[in-house]
Parts: sequence; structure tokens; C-alpha cells
Amino acid sequence: MRAGASDAAREKAERQPSRPAVFLDRDGTLVEEVPYLHDPGRVALLPGVAALGGLAAAGYALVVVTNQAGVARGLYDEAAVEAVHRRLAELLAGIGVRLDAVLHCPHHPEGTVPGYARACRCRKPGPGMLEAAAGRLGLDLPASWLIGNHPSDVGAAQAAGVRPLFVTTGQAAGRPPPPGIAAVPGLEAAARAVLDGSGTPPAGMQKARPAPAVTERAWPGMPAGRGRPRP
Ligand SMILES: [Mg+2]
Ligand SMILES: [Zn+2]
Repeated sequence: MRAGASDAAREKAERQPSRPAVFLDRDGTLVEEVPYLHDPGRVALLPGVAALGGLAAAGYALVVVTNQAGVARGLYDEAAVEAVHRRLAELLAGIGVRLDAVLHCPHHPEGTVPGYARACRCRKPGPGMLEAAAGRLGLDLPASWLIGNHPSDVGAAQAAGVRPLFVTTGQAAGRPPPPGIAAVPGLEAAARAVLDGSGTPPAGMQKARPAPAVTERAWPGMPAGRGRPRP
């Protein structure tokens, strides 16, 4: 039985050559940033989301990967996460975009809900969700991208060996991208960067690109502006 199942999996993998994906952060990248979003009525697509249709047409799988520590913190349950994702799929269908998969991490090491309050490999910047999607959908990770608006998105991309693209939307508005990471103003520009390959090259092939001006808040633990003396 076991051998039969693995033979079937191998045959399937041979039939379907692996394809690249564009991984997408959810909050502040695809939809408006609402802290601990769990009300389907508050799901609102950000501008430029329709450009994802062009990525799908170019052969990229579209896979949402989202940290939902609100579950571990007891703020909402996984049924609420699923309800938000059903609403997201509905809104995207209205503009002709279909997601191939939506993965969430409900964990947090400092959570309060038994079973969810733990360290895990799936919480970004861990690579777990990207690896799970790759296994499930047969994805070519080195040919894939991750678009996100937080340093943990960039970390997950790097940990999984996919190319990061940083969008300065949601909580990233006015903040610097992590050093050396290509930044774009939104999803439309991000989709263009994927299609013309102009994002951050894979690790080891990076050439310096000018970062956008840092205007306001830096990320915790990151200097406020390059070259600016710190007190
Ligand atoms: Mg985000
Ligand atoms: Zn997790």
C-alpha cells in the first residue's frame, strides 16, 4: 500500500514538471492592513491586485502565505481565518484572479492557546509554508518569488531559496526595505518586476540597487537610515 502510494506520487511528479510560484503575503500586501484581521467584512483588496492575473497567465502558481498569530493568542480561531480566506477568494474571483493555495501559520511561541503556543517552522521568517506548498503543488522554489511587506517575508523567502520582492504598502509605507532587497511601490509594480526578472537576484548574484529614500519609521532592530549617525 505504502509502496503503491509513493509510486503514484512519483508518477504524478514525473507527469507534471515543477512550476514556479509567486508567494504572496496577505495583510498589507494583498489586502488592507487591519491588525489581527478576522472579520470577512473588513477584507479589502489593495490596488494593483488585478496584476496577479498576468502572473497566473505567465504560468506562476499564486500561493498566499500568512502568519496568523492571533489564533495562538486566542483572538480568533482557525474557522475565522478560513472565513477571511473565503472572502478573499470571492473578491479575487470578481477580478478574474484564482489562488492556487492559501497557507497560514496559526502558531506563536508566546501564544496562550494550548497546541498553538509554540515555536514552529511555518511562521515566517521560517520557510515551512513555502516548503509545504512546494511539496503539495510541485513548485520550483529557485524559480519562485515572494512578495511581502515585512522583513519576515524577506526572511522566509531567503530561508526557502526564493526571490524576495518588498512592497512598501500597509505597515511598510514610509519604512525602508531590508538592506539589499528590491522594493516596489505596490503589487502592480511587483508583478512587472517578476515578469521582467528585475527583482532581487537569488542570493550570491546580488548587485547593489538603489533603495528608496527612507522617510520615517525604521523597523525594530534596523537602523533608521543608511549613513545617518545614530545618537
Ligand atoms: Mg504583511
Ligand atoms: Zn506555524
